[in-house]
Amino acid sequence: MQCAGGPLRLRTDSQMRWSFKIGEISGIAIKIHFTFVFVVIWAVAEGASGWGGIRGALFAAATILLLFACVTLHELGHGLVARRLGIGVKGITLLPIGGIAQLESLPKKPADELLIALAGPAVNFVLAIGLGLTLALGEGADLFLSLGYLSQSYGLLTGTRSVLSLIIYLLGANLILGLFNLIPAFPMDGGRALRALLATWTSFPRATRIAARLGQVIAVGLILLALSPVGSVSLVLVAVFVFTGASFEDQAVQAQAILHGLRVRNALPMRTVRAVAPDDSLSKVMELNFHNHPYGFPVVRGGVLVGLLSRNDLLATIRQAGGQVRVEQAMRRDYPIVAPDDHLLHAQQLIARTGFSMLPVFDKGYFMGLISLEDINRAYANFSWRRQ
Ligand SMILES: [Zn+2]
Repeated sequence: MQCAGGPLRLRTDSQMRWSFKIGEISGIAIKIHFTFVFVVIWAVAEGASGWGGIRGALFAAATILLLFACVTLHELGHGLVARRLGIGVKGITLLPIGGIAQLESLPKKPADELLIALAGPAVNFVLAIGLGLTLALGEGADLFLSLGYLSQSYGLLTGTRSVLSLIIYLLGANLILGLFNLIPAFPMDGGRALRALLATWTSFPRATRIAARLGQVIAVGLILLALSPVGSVSLVLVAVFVFTGASFEDQAVQAQAILHGLRVRNALPMRTVRAVAPDDSLSKVMELNFHNHPYGFPVVRGGVLVGLLSRNDLLATIRQAGGQVRVEQAMRRDYPIVAPDDHLLHAQQLIARTGFSMLPVFDKGYFMGLISLEDINRAYANFSWRRQ
């Protein structure tokens, strides 16, 4: 049972559609993927045939549920540390091959990602120590007997020996969970920790590329191991998950890095801008060709930009007050401006926040043109396409 680790946002959003909520811990929703039900059914069938009868089946069901409780605690370790560091947690989803903690954003600092990644395995090691202490103490005390009595009274387990074997099993499982997740196969926890360490001396995209490639090499190794006599179906699933997950997250990080690198000048359209005067009537503006000005016009007096006339304001004012109204009565004066070297993301956020359909671009006091959301989206599409 492997934890898939951190924020596989885009990937998991589609996977998670088939999951349902079973509860909430510290405000974090715990969800179960429908395929999880098959794991419990399989375990119960194995228990019934292996140990025999209804008791065997119940024992197997209890074991698998306790095991997934450990997986849930592992994911909670990621989630609670992430939340402590100011990152929202969408929820925890349990899948047949492990759990996933869905974070709302990537940790910004490598140290934060390191802490979040290591928190999961740390929980398993704490659980293993706790179970080990229980075993050690139980040797001398009557703990096993009392546990056995407790379980017998619930009719769940078959006696002191099964409690003992259950504790030993969970102890081993937690050690394996902790150690397996520390394998540096990105996007597993160890791989995330590795990326965080790499990101302290190189860029985040490069650190991700290196960690993802190593993750894929290890995934191939895991598939070879899965085909050997000690292999299992779940190992194949984990290997496929690691291989595709590494590629997916790497691509997302590289694309984002490129988009972050785009500037306003990369999206500034190469078209002639027709300006209107503050004294023009709106009906005169309506006669102009809108083809090059789908969002509106700059308003210029004496070579200086004095306002913006958006198409929406133009049409709304004509509807209310008629075409004889002058441009300066319909234009806006409180518009934000951007520079060619500003990040495109900044311009996009300005448009989203202020509701202006276009932004004037100024280069050292010179008006360069207008940039709209459409221009920004076109630049993003062009650059992502050119990358491929
Ligand atoms: Zn984990």
